[in-house]
Amino acid sequence: MGGKKVSGAVYKRLFENVFVCLKCKHKMRANPQKIRTGKIHCRNCGYSKFRPKSRQGRR
Ligand SMILES: [Zn+2]
Repeated sequence: MGGKKVSGAVYKRLFENVFVCLKCKHKMRANPQKIRTGKIHCRNCGYSKFRPKSRQGRR
């Protein structure tokens, strides 16, 4: 019973590493740095532009 650890920092980090493909809106987890340098390609359509998923729930 109980004893569940909910770490906000970890949760936020997980969410910040989730990106959405601008073309097919496929969700992917990746390093923000790699996204920035365009090293990540969408597994679904091959597009290399993403936007962070962390837009929701902020502010
Ligand atoms: Zn895609």
